[in-house]
Amino acid sequence: MARCSVCGAPAIAWVPYQRRYYCARHYAEFVESKVERTIRRYKLVGEGDLVVAAVSGGKDSSTLLGTLASLRERLGFRLVAFHVDLGIGEYSEKSRRQAERLAEALRVPLVVFSLEEEIGYSVPEAAARLRRPPCSVCGAFKRYLYNAAAIEAGASALATGHNADDITAYALKNFLVQDLEAIGKLAPSTPGIPGLAARRIRPLYTVYEKESFLYVLARGLPYLHEECPHANLSSLEFRLKEAVNRLEAERPGFKLNFLARLAKRAGDYPQPREPVRSCASCGLISSREECTFCRLTRRLAGEPLGRRVRERLRSMMAEAAREAK
Ligand code: SF4
Ligand code: ZN
Ligand code: ZN
Repeated sequence: MARCSVCGAPAIAWVPYQRRYYCARHYAEFVESKVERTIRRYKLVGEGDLVVAAVSGGKDSSTLLGTLASLRERLGFRLVAFHVDLGIGEYSEKSRRQAERLAEALRVPLVVFSLEEEIGYSVPEAAARLRRPPCSVCGAFKRYLYNAAAIEAGASALATGHNADDITAYALKNFLVQDLEAIGKLAPSTPGIPGLAARRIRPLYTVYEKESFLYVLARGLPYLHEECPHANLSSLEFRLKEAVNRLEAERPGFKLNFLARLAKRAGDYPQPREPVRSCASCGLISSREECTFCRLTRRLAGEPLGRRVRERLRSMMAEAAREAK
């Protein structure tokens, strides 16, 4: 039986690019040390910062919250978790339950924003009414709400659970469709714009998808392993992940080398040409007169809901930030 390269206990994992085995305890430490190195190297978080972590309930958000919670004391930052209940039937009920169990286990204050309760429409209802694909409506709502939650909390950064496989696949996909501006946004952090857009950080930049999965198992953290019923498992992104993982199997460390170079060169890609404005209805970032969220909610509810949602988030996030350690 394979033994942990650190302590000699029975191993649960082999890390090919390190040529090392780990037991559950040392595997969790290995993943946490990767996240800590990313945070320090790219100056993602500083002493006294408040970080809002977007938590969906899936494995990557469990790894995100688990690693950040274990590092918060040493690195001196405070942490709040934020979950959007999308109202996608049983999938969303289970996701919400796992997000709540996770936050409780890690003692991180959690804010749950329910689309049905707060704007009167779930993702499937809004998508049907707007005649748009559920993922496009869902993506637009989540983007807006994550940003608004971080802004209203007065947070230094919004942390998302994108892992190394996600970022590699996005970069390749954007290269293939020649959306070079989008590649420039795939650095470990994207700067914010005061009052309009929160700074984004990606602490799992160097954590492989498989490592994220083994981390939640090693620590016994709650997570939902079901995919959203709207997920498209034959998408270009998914296929690219498979291809990259074949390369990784032949050349251990391939993804890590690529991401280290991407982090260095992301700033050399063209910057967005569209001028950044403030939404006339809610005041947050927009590329047009009114932001997508305000335009969509205007069509759903007869009036733009951005400003009301921001006020609601302000009180929800303030309460959580007071409890944050
Ligand atoms: Fe939203 Fe589900 Fe689409 Fe993901 S797959 S964007 S959770 S609707
Ligand atoms: Zn060990
Ligand atoms: Zn708006």
